[in-house]
Amino acid sequence: MARNYREQSKMLEWAYFEGEIVPFKDANVSIGTHSLQYGTGAFAGIRAYLSADGETLNIFRLKDHAKRLLNSARLLRSEIDLTPDSLAQIIVDLLEKNAPSNDTYIRPFFYKPAVQLTPRLRGIGDELGVYMLPLGDYLPTTGVKVIVSTWLRVPDNVIPSRGKITGAYVNSSFAKDEAEEQGADDAIILNTSGKVAEGSSCNLFIVRDGTLITAPITSDILEGITRRTMYELAVDLGLKIETREIDRSELYIADEAFLCGTGVQVAPIASIDGRKVGDVPGPLTAQISDRFFKMVRGQLPEYSHYLTPVKVKVSV
Ligand code: PMP
Repeated sequence: MARNYREQSKMLEWAYFEGEIVPFKDANVSIGTHSLQYGTGAFAGIRAYLSADGETLNIFRLKDHAKRLLNSARLLRSEIDLTPDSLAQIIVDLLEKNAPSNDTYIRPFFYKPAVQLTPRLRGIGDELGVYMLPLGDYLPTTGVKVIVSTWLRVPDNVIPSRGKITGAYVNSSFAKDEAEEQGADDAIILNTSGKVAEGSSCNLFIVRDGTLITAPITSDILEGITRRTMYELAVDLGLKIETREIDRSELYIADEAFLCGTGVQVAPIASIDGRKVGDVPGPLTAQISDRFFKMVRGQLPEYSHYLTPVKVKVSV
C-alpha cells in the first residue's frame, strides 16, 4: 500500500513554523520530537467564517482562543514569549498570506521541539506552529446520535482537562472510536465521579423544563469557548441557564440536548444510548443555534467585537 500519510492537498499552502511563514510541506519536525513522543503539546482549533456578504473572513473569538492556548502552554511550562495579542497577530498574518476564499479552520500548536528522551516539561525549548485548512460542518447539524462512553474523562489532576493538551486526546480518541463502532456520531464522556463531562471534542448542554443546563468547569471539561458563547447568548435571550453537575440519567430524560464546540459548532442530539431526545432541534436549541450561526457570519452587530475581520481573496 502506498504510504500516503503526508497527503496535504487539503491544507492551505502556508504555515507558521519556527518563527516564519513557510510552505506547509516544509513545516516538519523530527520523529524524535519530545511532543510527538510524549504528548507534551498544546493546541487550539479556531474557525474563520466567510461573512454574509462574502467579502471578509471573520475569525471567531480569536483573542479568547489565543488566551486559552497560552494558558494551556503555561500548564506545560512553556517559556515562549507571546501575549494573546502577538499570538493573534501571527494568526491574522498567516490567514492574510493564505487568503482562502471559504470557511477556514485554524490550528495553532505549541510543542516541545527537542529530540530528548526524558519525559519532562522544563528546559527543553518551546515552539509554535500554525496551519490552516478549509472546513465545513464536522458533525451533522441536523441531529446526531451519541452514546455514553465506557471510557472516563481524564481528571484534571492526571492531565489538566481545562487545557487543550495533545496527550489527553488519546482519551477523546478512545471514546470517538467506541461511538463510531456502535454506529453513533460521538460519545458523551463521564468524569471519574460518574458525572457528565463533555463530548469527545465538544461541550454539552441539556434542556430540562425550559432551563439550559451545562456542567461546571470543575467537572473535568475543557473550558470551551463555544460553551461560554452559548451561555452568553442564553443570558442575552433571557433564557434560564444553570451550571451544575449533570447525572447520566438526566441525559435520558432531557427535553433537548446539544453538543457545541468550534468544530461541531452547535449540533442538536437526536438520541443518546438509543433513547430518543425530544424534538430535534428542540425550541431552545433552535433559538440559540440560529443566533450562533448569525453571530459567526457577522449578521448580529451587537456581537461584532467577537469577530476579527480579515480581508481575503474571494472566488467569483
Ligand atoms: N471539549 C473538548 C475536549 C474539545 O476538544 C473541544 C474543542 N476545542 C471543546 C470541548 C469545545 O471547545 P471550544 O468551544 O473552545 O472549541
